Amino acid sequence: MSWETVIGLEVHVQLLTMTKMFCACSAKFGDRPNTNVCPVCLGLPGALPVPNEQAVRLAVRAAYALGCTVHGRSIFARKNYFYPDLPKGYQISQFEEPLATGGKLEVHSPDRGPIAVRIKRLHVEEDAAKSFHDRVPGMTAVDFNRSGVPLAEIVSEPDLRSPQEAHAYLTALKQVLGPGYVGVSNCNMEEGSLRVDANLSIRPAGSTELRTRTEVKNMNSFSGVERALSFERDRQIAATERGETIEQRTMTFDAASGEVRPTRSKEESHDYRYFPEPDIPPLVLGEAWLAAERTALPELPVAKRERFMTQYGLAAHESAVVTATAATAAYFATFAEKAPTDSGKEAWNWVANDLLSLSPDGESIPLPPERAAEVVKLVKSGQLSRQSAKRVLAELVKAPLEDALRVAERLGLIQVSDTRAIDAWVSEALEAHPAEVARYKAGEAKLMGFLVGQVMKRSKGKADPKVVNAALSAALAK
Ligand SMILES: [Zn+2]
Repeated sequence: MSWETVIGLEVHVQLLTMTKMFCACSAKFGDRPNTNVCPVCLGLPGALPVPNEQAVRLAVRAAYALGCTVHGRSIFARKNYFYPDLPKGYQISQFEEPLATGGKLEVHSPDRGPIAVRIKRLHVEEDAAKSFHDRVPGMTAVDFNRSGVPLAEIVSEPDLRSPQEAHAYLTALKQVLGPGYVGVSNCNMEEGSLRVDANLSIRPAGSTELRTRTEVKNMNSFSGVERALSFERDRQIAATERGETIEQRTMTFDAASGEVRPTRSKEESHDYRYFPEPDIPPLVLGEAWLAAERTALPELPVAKRERFMTQYGLAAHESAVVTATAATAAYFATFAEKAPTDSGKEAWNWVANDLLSLSPDGESIPLPPERAAEVVKLVKSGQLSRQSAKRVLAELVKAPLEDALRVAERLGLIQVSDTRAIDAWVSEALEAHPAEVARYKAGEAKLMGFLVGQVMKRSKGKADPKVVNAALSAALAK
């Protein structure tokens, strides 16, 4: 039997605020353990939480960027469970009446092309503290700096059909919400500011039923997600084909072995006994405030990609390269305007092939678009060959105060298009190779290449090949 995989993802992104969700402690990553703490985030009795407006604002932006409906009224709730990194014995989250529901994210599936993955809900909550099992020998240490840091939890519908699609979904989510576009989170998985839990089940291909699913946790990179889900899919298929029943349980991914294993059963079967948080009134957001946040959103990746396809005549994959981040897209637009290229496609070639390769991170180009455009002007005027342009661009990065023409001269790359000089080299070349000239005139057209080469050699590679070709043709026609 052939099987279909059904995957839904729950992603936690840390919202990029200065302070925590319900207190004024710093939310900075990497500070000395247990230095950013207060009675609220240590869960001391009687401490009162106050929601962070900036965290709510960033969560609202994330929700709008994902096409969600943002509700003017939502409710904070206590999610009760016991764990050493949760001093209050509950986490403040949202359950009934979340901040936002019903969005979608366009994802490029490697098998199915563009797909719209439905977003079920987005809510805000506080993070728990972090346990370390490897810092103090024989003991578990807890760092409360992370306790109370603001998170948005984004829950997708089970619309993904392969581990590769899960990877593509995360890539698209990070592109929209990360620093490249909306910037509500740095989406850095190593620092834990983007964390993923997955629900996975299998079903006979073509069926629409939803079978028992398992929850996979502890995946700490996008490729780890893909590996963990591939392992869990294969495990479920093998077990089902042996006639076993899949149990609903929580699995954990071991990146070292690449295996997915059940967690100990006592950590499972949560009953969180949610109830509304009595210390925080309902979160009410005014229509005007919401409308302002909505209109302040930048143009999003999908819209920008489509606009660039129309405006510059680019193919989808070409447009995706120059719209990877809003900054790259702005660079491309300025370059296309300033550089005297004949088409959007030609401008794309410069940016994608010549300029992005100068970037240390593959994203930010270390040369202003106006300076890069100067190099294109030199090529268009015949002073610089297209091949030499790459060297000039690289040199301009190192010499930020020098202009493009000076750099090209200094590197000895300026082409000679002065016809008198070229005519002289043409005459010398023809006199030096009378046999070849005779054979060319007798019909051996391919000798033109040899003769051009001889002229170029005499010019030490500096003659403009276009002018050389014209001069040679004219001389040979006499
Ligand atoms: Zn605090």
